[in-house]
Amino acid sequence: MALSFQFSSEHEAVRDTVRRLCQEELSPLVDDAEENEVFPRHVFQRWGELGLIGVRYPERDGGTGMDKVSDCIVREELSYMSQAFATSWSAHSHLGIWPIWKVGTPWQRENYFKPALTGEKVAGFGLSEPDGGSNVRALKTRAERVDGGWKLNGSKLYITNAPFANFLLVAARTRPELKPESISLFIVDLPNPGFEVHKLRKEGIRASETGLIHIEDAFVPDECLLGGIEGTYPVILECLSENRVGVAANALGMARAAFDAAKAYASDRIVANKRIGDYQAIAHKLADMAAQIEAAKWMVYYGAWRVDQGTLDAATAARVKLIASETALAVSEQAIRIHGGAGIMREYPVGRIHRDAFVYVIGEGTSEVQRNIIARDMGFKP
Ligand SMILES: Cc1cc2nc3c(=O)[nH]c(=O)nc-3n(C[C@H](O)[C@H](O)[C@H](O)COP(=O)(O)OP(=O)(O)OC[C@H]3O[C@@H](n4cnc5c(N)ncnc54)[C@H](O)[C@@H]3O)c2cc1C
Repeated sequence: MALSFQFSSEHEAVRDTVRRLCQEELSPLVDDAEENEVFPRHVFQRWGELGLIGVRYPERDGGTGMDKVSDCIVREELSYMSQAFATSWSAHSHLGIWPIWKVGTPWQRENYFKPALTGEKVAGFGLSEPDGGSNVRALKTRAERVDGGWKLNGSKLYITNAPFANFLLVAARTRPELKPESISLFIVDLPNPGFEVHKLRKEGIRASETGLIHIEDAFVPDECLLGGIEGTYPVILECLSENRVGVAANALGMARAAFDAAKAYASDRIVANKRIGDYQAIAHKLADMAAQIEAAKWMVYYGAWRVDQGTLDAATAARVKLIASETALAVSEQAIRIHGGAGIMREYPVGRIHRDAFVYVIGEGTSEVQRNIIARDMGFKP
């Protein structure tokens, strides 16, 4: 296959669509959503109408029939505008429905996957717990067999979209005596009398709603067990690996937004009769930022290409996520420095971008966890 460093005209069309959507419809919503910490729910329907939720799923399954590169373009552009919007999109369009697409029954696809593609239903993914964030194997939520289904007990922490989702995928153990990887996934309709969802207040991505969930004797019918008993750990790992490439694209969008703001400021701001961009210290910062973003960009799209080839492995996904998320954090910090005092002021975007950038050196597996995956791939045992 020929090596190509160009996006296709279809990819450019996706980028134009999302940019226009952001500029004309979504940007005006961002400040209020951040201030009130409430995600505008109707945006999911708009994403659905434009085919953006289903962008990487095949047409035969109700998707838009494009590819992972397109999915990353959507994320990059949404994140350029608002990481909170892009994170809610990601938890819904990938984490909350990819496993249903992958291993769901025809009934599950009809009742959850398809209404999620149109934005009629909003999804989330409940894996992390108070004792099981980095260490998924420490997961404690229990699922006990009862007449006609399962009874769930436990808790979930930091679950994106949980405060307003229509359903969540919930990871639980059916038999704690089995090996740690014996995890099952359940589709849980919300509200559910056994699910108490508390909305958390956050420093970053404030417009993306995040929940702590107490689960007590929540009944889930048999038809909502996803992918069979105790066998979904590999599905979860594959889902997370692909999403690490995805959130790397989110990080790339944030890095670009911070860079563009810093470059504009460096061109406009005059200190001692000179644009600050003409001071070598500032120019070098901008040069480093541009180079780091370019490196992250091609890693992200290489990762997306590997997904499309069906050859993504966990270590590649971890390398892509590590570099892109750390780039967003470093670039947004430099952007604040370039702004001087203005960088701390709310009317400039760089402070918010930097707060938001912390989310992806933590969420979807911290940078330390990514380094562990990469080191294990080299044969070490960190
Ligand atoms: C805004 C936000 C949204 C989220 N959305 C979701 C969601 O929708 N669904 C979901 O399931 N989860 C979600 N998460 C959870 C996220 O995946 C976890 O926060 C993350 O995996 C880290 O887990 P933890 O917070 O428990 O940190 P901990 O595991 O307590 O880690 C604390 C520190 O210890 C380090 N550490 C831990 N173990 C190791 C190790 N073995 N080696 C080296 N260092 C280590 C970590 O790197 C980190 O620096 C979200 C988190 C955030 C912040």
